Amino acid sequence: MTKRIKYDPDNIFAKILRGDMPCVKICEDDDILAFMDIFPQSKGHSLVIPKRAKATMIFDIDPDELSGLTLGVQKVAKAIDKALEPDGVRIVQFNGSESGQTIFHIHFHIIPVYAGAPVRPHAGGAPADTAVLTEIAAKIAAAL
Ligand code: AMP
Repeated sequence: MTKRIKYDPDNIFAKILRGDMPCVKICEDDDILAFMDIFPQSKGHSLVIPKRAKATMIFDIDPDELSGLTLGVQKVAKAIDKALEPDGVRIVQFNGSESGQTIFHIHFHIIPVYAGAPVRPHAGGAPADTAVLTEIAAKIAAAL
């Protein structure tokens, strides 16, 4: 069974939600915040997180909050597809350290895939340039 983790209100995404840490925002509504992944696996790699849910994984999120979260994922995925014209889009969600999860506030990755461009490894490498991420986020936001 996947090892459960107690929700830590000081995790990085909780800090971003409180405004205690910066992010390159794409959009937000009552349910979700969408922002750029700072270690992008491809151009446009984005994260969608629930605003209210204090859930670490798919197992502990309230179904209504999950519903708002997945609707947000669809909205942002459509905008990424339109704005960046990838050849495919991966939606990824990790549960538990063993699966590769590193931040324990439930979230979905939206990873555009471009023909001939390998997707980079998860949560590694050098952080992306904030100016570049800001430009991509603006393009995605304009396509919402
Ligand atoms: P996971 O490993 O599924 O928990 O994903 C966490 C993701 O958050 C990784 O893809 C990281 O690159 C990304 N990440 C870590 N810190 C930040 C941050 N401060 N702002 C945006 N993305 C982050």
